Amino acid sequence: MIFSMIKGTFSILICFIFLLFACSGRTGKSSKPATYDVLIRHARVADGTGNPWYYADVAIKDGIIAKVEPALEADAAQVIDADNLLLCPGFIDVHAHAENVYSNSSERFVRMGVTTLITGNCGSSVTEVDTFLNYVNKTPIPLNIATLIGHNSVRRKVMDEVDRRPTPEELKQMESLVEMAMKEGAVGLSTGLIYVPGTYANTDEIITLAKAAARHKGIYASHIRDEGNEVKEAIQEAIQIGKAAQMPVEISHFKISSKKYGVAAIRQFRWWQMPGKKAYR
Ligand SMILES: [Zn+2]
Repeated sequence: MIFSMIKGTFSILICFIFLLFACSGRTGKSSKPATYDVLIRHARVADGTGNPWYYADVAIKDGIIAKVEPALEADAAQVIDADNLLLCPGFIDVHAHAENVYSNSSERFVRMGVTTLITGNCGSSVTEVDTFLNYVNKTPIPLNIATLIGHNSVRRKVMDEVDRRPTPEELKQMESLVEMAMKEGAVGLSTGLIYVPGTYANTDEIITLAKAAARHKGIYASHIRDEGNEVKEAIQEAIQIGKAAQMPVEISHFKISSKKYGVAAIRQFRWWQMPGKKAYR
């Protein structure tokens, strides 16, 4: 039941999924014909719109949310008393490295309230997006999965791990791979500019590939080039790429790894005073 509920198009999930397990002792079958498959009563619903939570009952039929209403007059094969706990749509984990999620236990994500994973981060992804997504679709897991196309993986495929600029032909090949991945369903380009071979790429190379992703409404997600003493330049590079390719930028695990410069760098770095602040704030 849990899995069919999660795989529904609305993809609702009890935020604290343990609720379902905790409540299993309180579920029961009615003698009346079932109107819905599942009815969750007495929940505090936070529907994800940004509005305050409200009390409601939620009815589910064929894995899809059929009704959200206070004191719903209905019956169901399974009635769960949420007992004032929070009920909300599943969370999206935007930073996963889960290319092998289907071979591991994916239930742990669900138990944390996560129903959608974005994988392919930090420049590392599958390069055959179509094959990957087809495999995911055929695999019975309780998660929605989307992937980014990783720059490191693309560069490695075309140039191995050499420390040099790409030739125009190599750049074209990388661009084609990104373009193809986006057409096959990737949601953006990721980079891992602190890792080999991504670190061998200059900003122009990334901009060319980012533009290919932007043509298909992709985002740019970056594990930036430096998280220590040169974090400011690394953030500026990410913004420069986003501006040049006209696409949203996500800086992955935004942090500073240098103790010495950590707090000072944050204080000194007035990103809101950078050019283009309006578009990228
Ligand atoms: Zn990373």
